[in-house]
Amino acid sequence: MGSTPRGLHILFFPFFAPGHIIPTVDLAKLFASCGVKATILTTPGNVPSIQPSIDPANDSCSLRHPIALYLLPFPAAEAGLPSGCENLVAVTLTNHDMRAKFIKAIELLHQPFARVLRELLPDAVVSDYFLPWTQDVAAELAVPRLVFHGTSLFSLCASHSMDSFKVLESVPPGGAESFVLPGLPHRIEMQRSQIRDWSKMPEMAAFLNRCKNSEERSYGVVANSYYELEPDYAEHYRKVVGRRVWNVGPVSLRNRNEIEKSRRGDETSIDCNQCLSWLNTKKPGSVVYVCFGSISSLPIAQIREIALGLKASDKAFILVVRGVRGHDSDWLPEGFEEEVVGRGKGVIIRGWAPQILILNHEAVGGFVTHCGWNSCLEGVTAGVPLITWPMFAEQFFNERLMVEVLKVGVGVGMKEIAYQGAERRVVAGEEIRRAVGRVMDGGEEAEEMRRRARELAEMARRAVEEGGSSYVDVGELIQELIERKKTAGTE
Ligand code: UDP
Repeated sequence: MGSTPRGLHILFFPFFAPGHIIPTVDLAKLFASCGVKATILTTPGNVPSIQPSIDPANDSCSLRHPIALYLLPFPAAEAGLPSGCENLVAVTLTNHDMRAKFIKAIELLHQPFARVLRELLPDAVVSDYFLPWTQDVAAELAVPRLVFHGTSLFSLCASHSMDSFKVLESVPPGGAESFVLPGLPHRIEMQRSQIRDWSKMPEMAAFLNRCKNSEERSYGVVANSYYELEPDYAEHYRKVVGRRVWNVGPVSLRNRNEIEKSRRGDETSIDCNQCLSWLNTKKPGSVVYVCFGSISSLPIAQIREIALGLKASDKAFILVVRGVRGHDSDWLPEGFEEEVVGRGKGVIIRGWAPQILILNHEAVGGFVTHCGWNSCLEGVTAGVPLITWPMFAEQFFNERLMVEVLKVGVGVGMKEIAYQGAERRVVAGEEIRRAVGRVMDGGEEAEEMRRRARELAEMARRAVEEGGSSYVDVGELIQELIERKKTAGTE
């Protein structure tokens, strides 16, 4: 990896949502394991989702510098948000007023961040795409800022195609049902209903424009992906979108032992040993894991259908449900607890699951996912085929990558983007059973998917090993930052 990164200090600043915090913390652990001094900047309300994850790394004494946390107060009151409302889990994004206030709070962090950067003067900042002013502050202080998106290169290329060809302007709502994304390496057809047109929400559109503009001025992009997973899009992103990009993932592979795997994001709502013991009783590839990430919520009617679909599929399962109010009897089909869960057929985790611990157990053979990028990547990295159920944001793009390009998944048939559970079509239990069956019931199609998923998992493992593509990209980025620091004469 060339000369050692002695004295190199990188400040990591994740966006305020578990899906951004978790991989950024893994990223900090990755750079710290290479001898870089890593500091994570966050707000007090987000510490519980970071501290348990960095403690094992710091305790192991394998790091030259322990990973440090640096805290900024979150300006909730100034932005008119309730106290403690410091991340997307606490904000109802569908509520226009709350969304605007959350964006305001993020903007209010600009000056406090400038003070922190002046005080710490790191050699580089890795900050989230959704913190655009970090670029302005970094540029003023001549600190290189690297953008972390937390999504696939495929979806970045797809968004770039949408923007540069002004696709939505030529496909108005109510117009053609579907369209092909121009200029991409594959023929990718999207439905109009799967894309949110932010131009109808001026405050959001202005914010997203600032994010895009700041990314264009940044030093480059650090991506949680690996070259072999999406080589055409790694090239397209460099050559057509025109960004410098270092593919350093999958960063979840930084978590090597059970403790690290079970302490990501939040305290788990199940005893991890109990969960593993249950999985140990199941045959390899026989369990379906169902989890929709950290912020998606499902209406009661949908959870009932999922339970019915799982029961009808006759597969063992782990179902993660979050944020459901009321009694179990409101959402669980009658007799489900006794007949299915009670007989050891399934486990319901009410709250937070140790996702990568579960996915990497050999008993797991399918993953019903909302297609958040971390989940897609964690599934593929574990060699588990996906049953795709995208809901919002760039999840429909990730679904295309998984199902059509990589061919490691089948969709449940979601056609419409919707940020709120209640706006979504309820997918019937029978549709869920069918999709689960296509992945779990054997047969040629399922075998092919499983073979490809295993191949991609093996490639992921090799990518992060010494000499692998991600390992090399991390080394090259560190080396470049060291050279930069030397020429700047600050070492
Ligand atoms: N996650 C977890 N347990 C849960 C739910 C989510 O560990 O019960 C983790 C998951 O492993 C992933 C992240 O939370 O790293 C979710 O990120 P993703 O991009 O998949 O979805 P988002 O939450 O951003 O919608």
